[in-house]
Amino acid sequence: MTTSAFPKGTILGYPRIGRRRELKRAVEAFWAGSIDAAELEARAAELRAANRDRLAALGLGRDDSSIPESFSYYDQVLDAAIAVGAVPSRFARLVAEDGSVDLAGYFTIARGEGEDLPLEMTKWFDSNYHYLVPEIGPDTAFSAHGDRLVAEFAEARAAGYLTRPVLVGPVTFLALAKPADGAPAGFRPLDRLVDLLPVYGRLLAQLAEAGASWVQLDEPALVSESIDAPRDLVLESVGAAYDALGAAEQRPAIFVAAPYGGLDDALPALAATPVEAIGFDLVKGSVPSGLDPATAESLAGKALVAGVIDGHNIWRGDLAAAFDRVEALANLSGEVSVSTSTSLFHVPHDVADESKLDPRLVGWLAFADQKVGQVATLATGLVSGREAIGEALDAATASLADRAGAPGVRVPNVRERLAALRDGDFSRDDFDTRVAAQASLELPELPTTTIGSFPQTGDIRRARARLVKGELTHEEYVQAMREEIERVIRLQEELGLDVLVHGEPERNDMVQYFAELLEGFAVTEHGWVQSYGSRCTRPSILWGDVSRPEPMTVAWSTYAQSLTAKPVKGMLTGPVTILAWSFVRDDQPLGDTARQVALALRDEIADLEASGIRVIQVDEPALRELLPLKRADQPAYLDWSVGSFRLATAGAAAATQVHTHLCYSEFGVVIDAIRELDADVTSIEAARSRMEVVDDISASGFDHGIGPGVYDIHSPRVPSIDEVQGLLERAVAEIPASRLWVNPDCGLKTRGYEETVASLEHIIAATRAVREGASVGG
Ligand code: GLN
Ligand code: ZN
Repeated sequence: MTTSAFPKGTILGYPRIGRRRELKRAVEAFWAGSIDAAELEARAAELRAANRDRLAALGLGRDDSSIPESFSYYDQVLDAAIAVGAVPSRFARLVAEDGSVDLAGYFTIARGEGEDLPLEMTKWFDSNYHYLVPEIGPDTAFSAHGDRLVAEFAEARAAGYLTRPVLVGPVTFLALAKPADGAPAGFRPLDRLVDLLPVYGRLLAQLAEAGASWVQLDEPALVSESIDAPRDLVLESVGAAYDALGAAEQRPAIFVAAPYGGLDDALPALAATPVEAIGFDLVKGSVPSGLDPATAESLAGKALVAGVIDGHNIWRGDLAAAFDRVEALANLSGEVSVSTSTSLFHVPHDVADESKLDPRLVGWLAFADQKVGQVATLATGLVSGREAIGEALDAATASLADRAGAPGVRVPNVRERLAALRDGDFSRDDFDTRVAAQASLELPELPTTTIGSFPQTGDIRRARARLVKGELTHEEYVQAMREEIERVIRLQEELGLDVLVHGEPERNDMVQYFAELLEGFAVTEHGWVQSYGSRCTRPSILWGDVSRPEPMTVAWSTYAQSLTAKPVKGMLTGPVTILAWSFVRDDQPLGDTARQVALALRDEIADLEASGIRVIQVDEPALRELLPLKRADQPAYLDWSVGSFRLATAGAAAATQVHTHLCYSEFGVVIDAIRELDADVTSIEAARSRMEVVDDISASGFDHGIGPGVYDIHSPRVPSIDEVQGLLERAVAEIPASRLWVNPDCGLKTRGYEETVASLEHIIAATRAVREGASVGG
């Protein structure tokens, strides 16, 4: 193997969905049967070609491996599973005789078919991207299928490019996998590393044969302490994996990228292997220091890649400080390069596409294309010296100063209000006092409620689209939404629910709705980022101090309450979730920003109370998602996240019942945080895990109201009365009936009315049966 130098400037990956979501459209057209596989492949090839041309025009080299081949039709982890032949046995029919899987089969594994459930989906590190979880068992047969990797590399070569294939690394692949059904207790996918490595070796050989000089293996698992695999095993696996791959004769030079945090204790293990280049996330992590002599010596002989341009956020940032970090890394090795901290698939393509944003704000932003330009600039600085890029560094510094002084970024009265906060602003009356005061709600035992949204029908969506186009006046739109609210209230009364909701028809999205009504946010036109598969979200930009010009939900909630004598829940999205699902300013601690959002919500809660709303829910489905990957960072996170929720809710009177909702059943992981939130009632997901979570709840001694979901809203399936009754009986056995609530797992917005009504009827019938049983039994 002959090694060519690692390129001076590169990125870890580029958005793959297309500037105008072309890939989404093509893939969905293929699913709908309106284009065939050949047409889909042609459109994807066109996108890849355009991306290479674009990246070269922005300053990445054409022939030095600096352009990554980071395309995926659906998900990079699924791609790796297919490349190593790890197809779950329920999909065996999709595998051809030569072991390959065609495009239709690939999508079937991602999306499921009939009884065959798709691969599970879960969040990718601390991002809002979801990957597909590979299933690995003791008998999973691995085999190399590098055809797509090779074909994309060859396609680039034919167009005159020498690019760098990208693949999820073997340690991360297995660390993120779950044991296949039927695997014996105690089995860990990482136990299969020795069997997987020859297959990775084969893939590398295929790439070398095709002419690749470098390959990038992504190993984010090395930076995370929040994955299932034990840390010792991960560290051991790093050495085993890269010693083995490094020893292969026929392979490209290996670049191991470690995005989303510092390598920390994984660095000595990785440095001791023969890999030629290591990528550091110097945005989340820092330049390694205090290295042992052996590690320092190994690093000195490798290419070190400084991930200093933030791939996970949209700010132009401090370019001079980034270059300082590149120079600091250069003290460890004579060979240093510049990169992004993560793949750029977390950010939209190009700020130049945003014609409606304030031009001053635009000057502070860098989307993917602007970040590529920043990488190219810093790479020039590395080659030609700091003076060569002095102007660009100064321009970025000037832009930061402009941002710091711009109106709206620091608003005195918002800051004064934060500075004046006292401990007491974060606490309500004690729980017993609140329970007594809330008796006036006159709720039955096992009260029934829903999580907030009712089905978002075609009519609702069409009304919103027509409002945006100007075909409906604001008054007509409000009228349409009020009619919907009335229908939803009547329906809930007929069903016999105890605490009603207005149904959230007016919300396009649970974060964007608030972002559009609060000061300090901007909304983009084309700022789409991939969430999973063909699904994209368009996060708002939280750029300035947050305040609430006027009430945001009061008119809807009070209208709903005026229609019924039963209590209607006011519905708000919590500060942590608003931050998690937006692009958040990076010029102050997240906790400060969260407290600003919290104060706006606190005012909203006061207004809701003043207009007669007695139950208020503040949703925090993202509380778990933002939990830092490093254990040492978790206490500080829990402190500000929980603190901002408490600040939002602690102004509520004792008689006001505060609910919260979290979208997952990992109750054990976040129990301390949930307890500290001090909500009167917490609803969580539980139906899919058959109420297993009640064990955690009772073991934890959690003593506030709790509503473990009894209806899995992720599926169109209607649970039977018996099934719901069984779940409730399981819950009542462990949790005192006086604290137990009955509700679905999550909001109903993605469901249809038919299954929603049937499911709610069954929930109510089951609850009545359990109530009677409980009183008969004493
Ligand atoms: N109140 C929201 C709804 O019902 C909660 C959504 C969520 O938890 N993601 O839609
Ligand atoms: Zn939810």
